[in-house]
Amino acid sequence: MTTQDKGTFQMLWDCPSCDTPKLLGLDHRYCPNCGFPQDATKRYFPAEGQEIAVADHIFHGVDWQCSGCDTPNSAAAEFCGSCGAPREGSAKEVGLVDDNPPAPPPAPPKKSKKGCLLLGCGGLLLVGLIVALVAFFWKSEVALTVTGHSWERSIEIEKYQAVSESDWCDAMPAGATKVSRRSEVRDHKQVADGETCTTKNVDKGDGSFDKVEECKPKYREEPIYDDKCSYEVNKWQTIRTAKQGGSSVSDTLAWPDVGSLRAGSGLGAERQGAKRETYTVLYKDADGAAHDCSFPQAQWSGIAQGSRWTAEAGVLFSNLDCDSLSAM
Ligand SMILES: [Zn+2]
Ligand SMILES: [Zn+2]
Repeated sequence: MTTQDKGTFQMLWDCPSCDTPKLLGLDHRYCPNCGFPQDATKRYFPAEGQEIAVADHIFHGVDWQCSGCDTPNSAAAEFCGSCGAPREGSAKEVGLVDDNPPAPPPAPPKKSKKGCLLLGCGGLLLVGLIVALVAFFWKSEVALTVTGHSWERSIEIEKYQAVSESDWCDAMPAGATKVSRRSEVRDHKQVADGETCTTKNVDKGDGSFDKVEECKPKYREEPIYDDKCSYEVNKWQTIRTAKQGGSSVSDTLAWPDVGSLRAGSGLGAERQGAKRETYTVLYKDADGAAHDCSFPQAQWSGIAQGSRWTAEAGVLFSNLDCDSLSAM
């Protein structure tokens, strides 16, 4: 921020005795009409364009106010110009008038805030937090009966094939083919764009004020373009998932048949990818509502059909805490 002094001008005051307006703070220590002494606390800044400049102004300091007659006196004076009382003793400094410059225009909102209108975003966050806390901590114990079992094993089948992708050209993988480029906005930068200036009045406290211009640099956002590449690249991709499952602990647990895969490493080759297995126990609570929990296979197969258990369940969403299960 830069500041520039635009000159010194006279504060104004209105005579409370004869109602003469716009008397000069420096030149009119007494009302030229009726002789009434100036009241330093009633000084004000003139309206824009009505400032009266002070040539070769020497600033002695903030006025002191006579404790005998309240007349403001120059810091250079040792005796009150109105009643002759000496400065020493109970003389106090004149209070300064505060200038409130007009507030700068509000910055344009960066993102639309739909959905926050009713409560405000803070309110929504708070409600969300409370709901999450209640859902997590407000639990009650439920009685459960095992109604069944289920299991599933799956194997992903991957194929080495050409895939269409796009990315910034400097991040394109090696071996990409059929490349086409186009320019797109990748980022933004702040570019200096002149400055915003406001003028402020600063009361000097001696019947005059300084006009000060404060300027802040202004910026605008400019897009940075870069090359976006569309291309084809050969890679392993999951094309299907083979599954095998059942609903009994006495089932023979087997991995699914993946069929015949085309071996090799070139285009069109196939292979087995990730393998997953899930073993689930199904429960019914006293209200008849269904729940389920998953276990390692050895534990799962030992949980008997019809056996009875207790567990904690969330009151809000009746979500079962599987770690809290204990046999009845
Ligand atoms: Zn007057
Ligand atoms: Zn006095």
